[in-house]
Amino acid sequence: MNVQDISEFKYSDKKIDLLLTHKLYSNAYGTVFIHTVFGLLVSIILFSKVDSILLFSWLAILLTNMLVRFLFIKTWLNATKESREHLWMRNMALGTSLMSGALWASTVVFLDFKTLPLESLSLSLMVMALAASAAMYSAFFMPAFFLSVVPYLGSQFAYHLTQWSLESIIISLIIMVFGGMLYGQASRLHRTHKKSIIQTLKNEFLITNMQTANQKLAESSRTDFLTNVLNRRSFDEALNRAWADHKMNQQTICLIMCDIDLFKDFNDTFGHQIGDTVLVRVADNLQQQLRPSDVLFRYGGEEFTVLLHNTTLDEGVLIADTIRHSIMNDPIDIAGSQQGITLSLGVSAQIPVDGCIADSLLKEADHMLFESKRNGRNKVTSAWHHSQEKRAFLAE
Ligand code: GH3
Ligand code: MG
Ligand code: MG
Repeated sequence: MNVQDISEFKYSDKKIDLLLTHKLYSNAYGTVFIHTVFGLLVSIILFSKVDSILLFSWLAILLTNMLVRFLFIKTWLNATKESREHLWMRNMALGTSLMSGALWASTVVFLDFKTLPLESLSLSLMVMALAASAAMYSAFFMPAFFLSVVPYLGSQFAYHLTQWSLESIIISLIIMVFGGMLYGQASRLHRTHKKSIIQTLKNEFLITNMQTANQKLAESSRTDFLTNVLNRRSFDEALNRAWADHKMNQQTICLIMCDIDLFKDFNDTFGHQIGDTVLVRVADNLQQQLRPSDVLFRYGGEEFTVLLHNTTLDEGVLIADTIRHSIMNDPIDIAGSQQGITLSLGVSAQIPVDGCIADSLLKEADHMLFESKRNGRNKVTSAWHHSQEKRAFLAE
């Protein structure tokens, strides 16, 4: 079991861009609000001073674009990760930015610093402010810079440049410097956002790996390496838990203890490796005879236990005998000769009562197993643990 190294951490630029875009749209309702308010302000300021059909057409397109953008943001935020990768989503994002860029660039037709100096100045300042705010959000999605900030400032720059006065040329230079500063700021911010997203992904990668490794470790500490069934430690925990449950519900808990007969001789004759394959085979066979609620454990060496929930002694004995038959009838082929395996089994059952501990069930099953061995092996012996006998047992 290995914890994956951080060097195995991989990311694609596409994924990072998608996450950044998601961050952008998580906070994008504000831009819809600003554009709508500014659009209305422009219309109020210029109302009756410019061609009203042109002005209202411009406002209508702007409001429609904002409605589309609003609906798009809503769709994006509710969409699944996969559907966000669809081309139409990307095109919608680019489309609304492009439309904004074109709409605010077109406001130069309303500029007239000679006859409407105050109105024109207000409009120019609004476009600059929108450019500054667009530069902030284009840090998440750099194409937005070229689709919004460049047309906003580009149109202002071109307008002033074409006025051919010293002041207007100075203003266009200032706008150019302002645009350059915004670009520098946006790309710096973009790099920072990207770094922080990559770091977050790295942390998630490490945390997931640690959790998987911990899970595997916890599983392996509860499982027997050879047979892959639960180990002694799991048995102790499961027995105590089942004991408490059965005591609370006053139900019968049953335990089967099995031991391979004369396994030492088997090992001595055929070697430990063959012995190991027998253990695996016996464990598999045992597992197949059990009901879904029965739990098999490797108790130690060549001994297995089966915990049977809410099961009477008679039912337990039936299962134990099925197991005995099944193992007996499943000889193992060693170098062409069939070697029979047998099990001795002990079964005990109790309804847990006060003053009696889970260990008594185990001791009783072990005692019954010993009886099976004493009576010639390949046997099932059982005992019902009555409260009377229990007292005698504990007094021993
Ligand atoms: P009995 O019928 O009385 O149970 O006789 P036995 O030979 O099975 O009992 P004993 O306790 O004398 O021997 C148990 C043997 O189980 C000894 C040990 O070598 C073997 N054993 C225990 N764990 C493993 C294991 O993981 N692999 C192998 N191959 N053998 C094991
Ligand atoms: Mg043994
Ligand atoms: Mg044995």
